[in-house]
Amino acid sequence: MSGVEQLKGRMYEINAVGSALAIMGWDQQTNMPAGGAEARAEQVGILSTMYHEMLVSDETKTALGKAEAEATGEDDKAMARVVRRELDLATKLPSELVGRKALLATQAHEIWMKARKANDYAMFRPHLGELVEICREEAQHLGYKDHPYDALTDQYEEGATAAGWQAMFDGVRQPLVNLISEIQEAGPIENGFLTGTWPDQAQAEFTWDVIRKLGFREENGRQDAAPHPFCTNFSVNDVRLTNRFNEVLTSSLYSGLHEAGHGLYEQNSPVEWDRTSLAGGVSLGVHESQSRTWENIIGRSRSFWEWCYGPIRSAFPALPDVGVDAMFKANCTVEPSLIRVEADEVTYNMHIMVRFELECDMVAGKLDVKDLPEAWNEKYRQYLGIVPDTDSMGCMQDVHWSGGSIGYFPTYSMGNVLSYQIWACLQRDLGDTDALIARGDFGPILDWFVEEVYRHGSKYKPTELIQQVTGKPLGPEDYLAGITSKYRGVYGLS
Ligand code: ZN
Repeated sequence: MSGVEQLKGRMYEINAVGSALAIMGWDQQTNMPAGGAEARAEQVGILSTMYHEMLVSDETKTALGKAEAEATGEDDKAMARVVRRELDLATKLPSELVGRKALLATQAHEIWMKARKANDYAMFRPHLGELVEICREEAQHLGYKDHPYDALTDQYEEGATAAGWQAMFDGVRQPLVNLISEIQEAGPIENGFLTGTWPDQAQAEFTWDVIRKLGFREENGRQDAAPHPFCTNFSVNDVRLTNRFNEVLTSSLYSGLHEAGHGLYEQNSPVEWDRTSLAGGVSLGVHESQSRTWENIIGRSRSFWEWCYGPIRSAFPALPDVGVDAMFKANCTVEPSLIRVEADEVTYNMHIMVRFELECDMVAGKLDVKDLPEAWNEKYRQYLGIVPDTDSMGCMQDVHWSGGSIGYFPTYSMGNVLSYQIWACLQRDLGDTDALIARGDFGPILDWFVEEVYRHGSKYKPTELIQQVTGKPLGPEDYLAGITSKYRGVYGLS
């Protein structure tokens, strides 16, 4: 058996355990009765250890070494490269440190939930302090050139650095601050008609209908209700979306479009790479660019509502007939708020900037966790003009730090910025995309993404893929141009 075949066989085995974990995670969020939690946690713990041991085993190393020596084709070389990176990331950290972090993160997460509920930062502070210390240790083991943050963020976005993120934020910060202040002067947009009593079942059916019209294959996926929307998959032919339903009618539609964007990327990864390390989206930031495209660039366009206005009124007869224009604008309201997950497309990056700057300072030892609430509030005042009354609404709102995930947040902003950069290229190729969207003709748009992005799976490094698709590295120009012209239009600014 050739080295590449041996490596593929090993990946199928490792993937089987990984998929079992993913199915358990999906089931826990969608179907599992509360009483199943304890046994499930034990099972997940056992399988996670098994997964890690299989990945770092001599068997994997031998197969990989052989594949690296023998691989000649571009795809085989890429496969070996991606497995090497996974293996390196998994072996650079001593297992003692991995175990210590996992234990601490589980405890910190529990404490964080209590502390957030009680608005008691002092309760969470020592745990956060320990997690930051562990992240600093991790950075030492992973290695970096300039900033310990580089090592941490590279785990989520290959090749990313603190300086690179800084440059991205420097490019968008002031123009966004200016745009937000102009929008605030223009006054609010009416969107109260979206709030009402909309049956969950009707929301689920309507959203699912729209998702399928985008080109999401129902024989290869499904949508279920869960407390938080997410996308997971066990094969390119089995992609699961979740959604939640509330009193704001289009909230589930946009969550659905977002997760479907992730799902389309996964469903259209080449089937011959299924269950190997080349399958599926290449990185968090690139993945997020696709969810943001379907959610914001397509879903929050006037042409989308030209198409979708009739169907949503048929599905929800109680919705007043406000007209396409009012519907479009109501779904594009911009308002500085305290909570990241509820933020609109324009203010979203400001929330991320706050977290990125604080993370960098904590990891570099420039910001002590005892001073975090004050630093957080100061940045909100500076970037969004508002300050939270409580730490629960402030520095304790996100789940990420309680799990020791530092370096993750900037990938959200990368998704926003990159979505417009790729879309600009799509528009150059396809011409009048508004006409396509207004007819609900999403085929040419999906085909373009399949050809340019999805069919490459994880074959190229994210930076290479961006260069290849857009002809330049990640930059703020297309994002700023797109978002400025759209929201100037929505708010009637000159
Ligand atoms: Zn996402």
